[in-house]
Amino acid sequence: MPELPEVEEAAGRLRRAAVGHRVLALRALHPSQRKQLPPRRARRAVGRRIVAVERRGKYQTIRFDDDSTLLVHFRMDGDWHIGPCGDPPARFARAVLDLDNDTRLSLVDARALCTITWHERGVDPLPALGPEADDPAITATALRNALAARRGPIKAVLLDQRVLAGLGNIYAAESLWRASIHPAASAATLREPTLQRLITAIRASLADGVRNAARYRTGVRVAPLKVYDREGEPCTRCGATIRRITQAGRSTYYCAGCQRLKR
Ligand SMILES: [Zn+2]
Repeated sequence: MPELPEVEEAAGRLRRAAVGHRVLALRALHPSQRKQLPPRRARRAVGRRIVAVERRGKYQTIRFDDDSTLLVHFRMDGDWHIGPCGDPPARFARAVLDLDNDTRLSLVDARALCTITWHERGVDPLPALGPEADDPAITATALRNALAARRGPIKAVLLDQRVLAGLGNIYAAESLWRASIHPAASAATLREPTLQRLITAIRASLADGVRNAARYRTGVRVAPLKVYDREGEPCTRCGATIRRITQAGRSTYYCAGCQRLKR
């Protein structure tokens, strides 16, 4: 699942391929994306020059010279495939943008859950989002305040993009392991020293993720994950067994030895 590091890497590829170029054609190919981006809306982007590609949380915005935007979210499986216009559409292409530099940007997604929507100037296309999860300005006090009104376990709260933007299932689990916090710990009761550890852990996990970001395309991981998808394996810190539990329908991995639930 693409999270902040993977979306940042994909946005970088998109930026290098697209900024400064005009849109010759834009069309949604799959019924799901066609519903979000019907032909009459897609046509609004034609002839416009792309002036910026930005990432916010797990969203990407493609900004045009008239200040209209395309908002893209990969969801579980999306990615960009970049090639020449003459090529047949990439496998699982759900939307395609042809540019005047003979570049075809294909939004590919085997599960077709990705989203692509067009927004006219003056409309903020983004939903309400918390600060970027790796923002160096986040303090333990600010995070404590953000968590104070939250019911529920810290793992589930970390996935709420209104609290912190950019974390998903993998880096939330990795960050909690680094900070030695049990994923079921009540978010609202965590104290500032613990939250400071968590902030540091989130930054470290995302930094590792940046080193690994190409993995999303290549399948090669440079820095191995500590707990995610490692059920039954020994913890690299304490040797205890990594466990898997289900929280809010999602798998959560943690170490039963060094992530104790304090009662
Ligand atoms: Zn451990």
